[in-house]
Amino acid sequence: MIVRRLWLPLLCGLLLLVSAGCDRGRETVPGVLLITLDTTRADHLGCYGYEPIETPNLDRLASLGVLFEQAQTTVPVTLPAHSTMFTGQYPAVHGVRYNGMFKLGDGSVTVAERLGDAGWSTVGMPASYPLTTSTGVGQGFQVYRDLFEEVPEEEIGRDGERNAGAITDQAIEWLSGRSGNEPFFLWLHYWDAHTPYQPPYPFSSTYRDRPYDGEIAYMDQEIGRLMAYLEDQGLDREILILVAGDHGEGLFDHGEKMHANLVYQSTMQVPLIARAPDSSKGFRVSEPVSLVDIAPTILDYAGLDPGPQIQGVSLREALKGVEPEPRTIYFEALSGSLSFGWSPLEGLRRGRWKYIRSSGDELYDLEEDPREVTDLHSTNAIRTGEFGEELQAMLEAWADSPDVAEATEVPLDPEELEMLASLGYVGGTLSRDSRGGVNPRDMIHLDSTIHSARAAQQAGQYAESLPLWELVLKEDPENRHALNLAVIAATHLSRFDQAQELGERLTARWPDFVPGHVAYGEAFAAADQFRKAADCFRNGLALHPDEDALAYRYSVALVASGQLELAERVSRTALDGGSGSYYRILLAVSLAAQGRPQEGEAELRQAIADGYERKSVLREEPLLEPLRRLSRFEDIISVLPDPPEDDKPDAAGGQEAY
Ligand SMILES: [Zn+2]
Repeated sequence: MIVRRLWLPLLCGLLLLVSAGCDRGRETVPGVLLITLDTTRADHLGCYGYEPIETPNLDRLASLGVLFEQAQTTVPVTLPAHSTMFTGQYPAVHGVRYNGMFKLGDGSVTVAERLGDAGWSTVGMPASYPLTTSTGVGQGFQVYRDLFEEVPEEEIGRDGERNAGAITDQAIEWLSGRSGNEPFFLWLHYWDAHTPYQPPYPFSSTYRDRPYDGEIAYMDQEIGRLMAYLEDQGLDREILILVAGDHGEGLFDHGEKMHANLVYQSTMQVPLIARAPDSSKGFRVSEPVSLVDIAPTILDYAGLDPGPQIQGVSLREALKGVEPEPRTIYFEALSGSLSFGWSPLEGLRRGRWKYIRSSGDELYDLEEDPREVTDLHSTNAIRTGEFGEELQAMLEAWADSPDVAEATEVPLDPEELEMLASLGYVGGTLSRDSRGGVNPRDMIHLDSTIHSARAAQQAGQYAESLPLWELVLKEDPENRHALNLAVIAATHLSRFDQAQELGERLTARWPDFVPGHVAYGEAFAAADQFRKAADCFRNGLALHPDEDALAYRYSVALVASGQLELAERVSRTALDGGSGSYYRILLAVSLAAQGRPQEGEAELRQAIADGYERKSVLREEPLLEPLRRLSRFEDIISVLPDPPEDDKPDAAGGQEAY
């Protein structure tokens, strides 16, 4: 059976040349090219009716194939949208809801995995950091050229992306180097339209006042270069070519500058153009479809069954010129909820209607009102109510998806988080208590202030960031992200009263939010009020008993406030639970400070044997003074190498310091 599956696509690919079918009568293709256009608004392409741009290559593809006039993303964010394209599942099922804090779980089955199992070559070429290998979205690709691999410097554009020229170059390089007859799945990601908008010359000149359009026109030129190569090889007539946007861009429609926080068509409608050997020419599909349909379409053309986990439908009949059956399509944006504590946005699209649920309902007739200016929910209450019930039923049916837990809250490494932050993704935490938060629509005008504040804070400019957070909090007093970073900024500025007052507000409103408890306690610790700091950390721990960030700080605060027996007990419990050697340092110092030098020395020795090696911390950290008074202290730490100059203790007393 495996052998049969392995060879079937190849046979079909060959048979296609004589127009013979196989596998339940379906013809298959010898290759699939999926091009995803990041941040590209459908209504900024010529073939979608936008006149002040030149996109001749995508226009030509549309005239040779099929254009979907009403294609929707599932989430207006890169990683979840691509996760949907690759799995054929909605985000509530594959579990990836935002960039940076989720990973597509190994349990998810991607189209690349399915094709790879069937003997296809699978190659992914993502152009930016939100789609690196560690996000799990590359599973199934035998070759995955992400930005953390060795990339020649000239391939990386000015804004830290791989630009369209480099993507096309490496695609042609791979295509020309592949062996002749193995079917292939090649995914190319063009990132150019994402901020910052800096098209190369001459697009920088032609589109001087509209650099976003300039990026799209440049990308179109590079896609044209790839298409010319395919035509030259005769591949363009043999393979399935799919071009899909992952989401749009606000461009200040509805007050949103970029994307992620609202679900209006400016960010939810995406270009979708397809060409296959059996597709009609120049057909335009008006029925709404979704990125969830990409995977089943690819599997259909590969002669593979979609499998029970796929939620989308194959668009193959639509490619042949048949309007798809009307159906209900789901979408969401949880980023405002995850980051700021705003209400989640969830909604449905069916035909001309679009329903959005947040703290309230919205209903739009996209045929009459494509810019979503007139909310009809109150004048169309019955339809609104039906949509609400349908949405609720869907979410309840998906609530037990096994992949969700696996995909949730995966910490990325600091370098990756830094890159995402520089791209404007704020990052957040999964909190289950934000339903009922404010409607993102009413707060979106704060978005640019939030980004400026965050940039200042990242640069350590707390005197600049704190007033900006105060501005945000004036209008959105419960904004979780603003409260948290304001506490941290005020602490750094030694405005301890303010930091503590904000910290109290933060933890009272968002008890689920662990970083809030950390920041609140730190606001006391930095003011040398260690007893109160210990109280904060203990209160946080009562709600989140498994959080090492709180447990460790609690132990430190106990030592610092002289609650030594309690510190000893807490450290021993943590060590019994398998926690790191830094707890043994705390145990050692609490023993030494209690006048038990031999036990203190034994624990210090054991900590070093277990791998603790921060010699400069042991020498200089004020809290560890009782250790330095041990008679064998120098003798015990002499086994440690001398630290390099920059390995000094962290002045803020962070966990890393110990
Ligand atoms: Zn994107």
